[in-house]
Amino acid sequence: MKVSARLAGISPSLTLEVTSKAKALKKAGVDIVSFAAGEPDFDTPLHIRNAAKAAIDSGKTRYTPAKGMAELIEAVREKFRRDNGLEYSPASIVISCGAKHSLFNAFQAICSPGDEVIIPAPYWVTYPEQVRLAGAEPVYLETEESRGYGIDREKLESLVTERTRAILVSSPCNPTGAAYGRDDLEFIAELACRRDLSLISDEIYEKLVFDGFEAISPASLGEEVKERTIVVNGVSKTYAMTGWRIGYLAAPENAAKAISSFQSHSTSNPATPSQYAALAALTGDQGCVEEMRRAFQERRDLMVERLNRIAGITCTVPRGTFYVFPNIAGLGKPSLELASELLDQARIAVVPGAAFGADTNIRMSFADSAENLNQGLDRLEEYVKTL
Ligand code: PMP
Ligand code: GLU
Repeated sequence: MKVSARLAGISPSLTLEVTSKAKALKKAGVDIVSFAAGEPDFDTPLHIRNAAKAAIDSGKTRYTPAKGMAELIEAVREKFRRDNGLEYSPASIVISCGAKHSLFNAFQAICSPGDEVIIPAPYWVTYPEQVRLAGAEPVYLETEESRGYGIDREKLESLVTERTRAILVSSPCNPTGAAYGRDDLEFIAELACRRDLSLISDEIYEKLVFDGFEAISPASLGEEVKERTIVVNGVSKTYAMTGWRIGYLAAPENAAKAISSFQSHSTSNPATPSQYAALAALTGDQGCVEEMRRAFQERRDLMVERLNRIAGITCTVPRGTFYVFPNIAGLGKPSLELASELLDQARIAVVPGAAFGADTNIRMSFADSAENLNQGLDRLEEYVKTL
């Protein structure tokens, strides 16, 4: 069949692909340790699962408004108030089928053909594809591992042209685990206002932060920047709910209205029982969030410490997420080759950095038990000794 020009060049999400390949191998009985998972290993907390069961049993199985049900929109407004000091009207909020869907909607809403969107690199695989699917072009702002992947202000400013439509802000960042402090965000906010740009802020890892770090939403830095920002978040990572598919965004009312209409012609509402689960997540006891965060921090420490002991590998300390992004330049192989050898010879799955625009690194998720992480790290150590 003739595939449209729009989809002809699209490639599958490598993060999802490596994860499902590792899962399939495990299921087939192959002894694999997977560092590929882009999702918490914890089960969704019981009170959230129970809320979904109760919703199903009481007949909450029909359509809701396309942009999500009013109670959930209220809960999202309260979340923004409580966690980010942001006040939004109900008309500014749209619930979608995951943060990925919210991001897709956001790019569709603001990009026109010929526009450019600045994306800091290394970047999550999906951003460039979504920008292209919206008819715009990604422009990469290279950041340096040696400088903690911070923003080079002059470099950023030099990338802004007449065609620049938006800057993507991803903090904490998948895959590097880096996160911006207030200074960098204030610079980005000021630049957006001065050069008439929008910001799309992906805050999905907001709660997975370490050592007391607090993630700041750029929208909270002032009324003017708030009016230029689409904030994207969701319940997937914070509440171990990746399979439920609920994300949300907050945007200026006119943009949210366009997104809501767009969604009413594409997916309609996100699954109704999942909306009830998300409602329980956002309004229920938040103790589960801190419990999981603490476990991730312990595992991060284990990963960073052991990786830095392996000759040829160096690993920066992530401020957030559940990924480390070790530099493997010292092993003398590009990331795709290394990832493929690690799978075949060491029976460990990692995501090659090339997927994120960084061929000297690999991404290793620590969303797994300490026992499995240690076993995988033992294998990595043994493999490196053979090089
Ligand atoms: N943004 C980033 C940076 C992510 O890593 C993910 C995880 N896939 C998402 C957005 C989307 O999350 P969701 O599962 O809610 O679609
Ligand atoms: N965010 C996860 C990852 O980067 C999930 C996979 C995906 O949606 O791409 O691995």
